[in-house]
Amino acid sequence: MSDTLLRALVALPFGLVLGSFMTVVVARMPAGESVVAPRSRCPRCKAEIRSRDNIPVVSWLLLRGKCRNCGLKISAEYPLTEAVTAALVVGAAAVYESVWVIVLVGLLLSMMPAVALIDLRHRIIPNRLTYPSVLAFSLLVVVARLFGAPVDPLRALMGLAIYGGALFVVAIASRGMGMGDVKLAAVIGVSLGALGLRYVGVAAGAGVLFGGVMGIGALVMGRDRKSAIPFGPSMAAGAVVAAFWGERLAGSYLKLYH
Ligand SMILES: [Zn+2]
Repeated sequence: MSDTLLRALVALPFGLVLGSFMTVVVARMPAGESVVAPRSRCPRCKAEIRSRDNIPVVSWLLLRGKCRNCGLKISAEYPLTEAVTAALVVGAAAVYESVWVIVLVGLLLSMMPAVALIDLRHRIIPNRLTYPSVLAFSLLVVVARLFGAPVDPLRALMGLAIYGGALFVVAIASRGMGMGDVKLAAVIGVSLGALGLRYVGVAAGAGVLFGGVMGIGALVMGRDRKSAIPFGPSMAAGAVVAAFWGERLAGSYLKLYH
């Protein structure tokens, strides 16, 4: 078995569990509810979701998307969020070799679908998600460095300051961007910055590009430009692009100028 395949297989259960946790984050965090307790219940019959019915993706398929107790339809958003989150974590494990980097990038990417969904639905990026993440990722980068992982704490700090700082200026100068976006930029900046600032550059560039495409899409669909399209989903997509193709994209972009 190749090392890449082995890493991907080991990462899969972690990705699924993280994905399952993220569906709870999406459902509860915007309302300020706890993401650890109580256990999930069916919104109609209030039956507690049993462990065997709480296996990511699999349970939804086995139950054919219905509550076991009352038959209420369960949104496909849950298994989809779990599957996409798991795919991102598995992807990180396949692309990177250092366990520390896989944990760092995997955790960052696992948050991105949840951030995008919450921002699309509620127009917020919860502080309860961003603040602990900035702290945890900073700490993780320092500890990883101490264990000899190929991460750079100084560049992580610079990534945080540059991406977070740039969006802070935009948020102050314009109305469209909120402080939630600034904090998300800090999260992405600190974790991708640890791998190299070019990754942060690609994340920001791709984020702006996606934001522009969404803006044009909204205009075409006749939405009022002032009814602000959330920028979080574009930033999240930018981070994913940077994590998987950052090295290559930064390389080919720089080649244009040489
Ligand atoms: Zn039910």
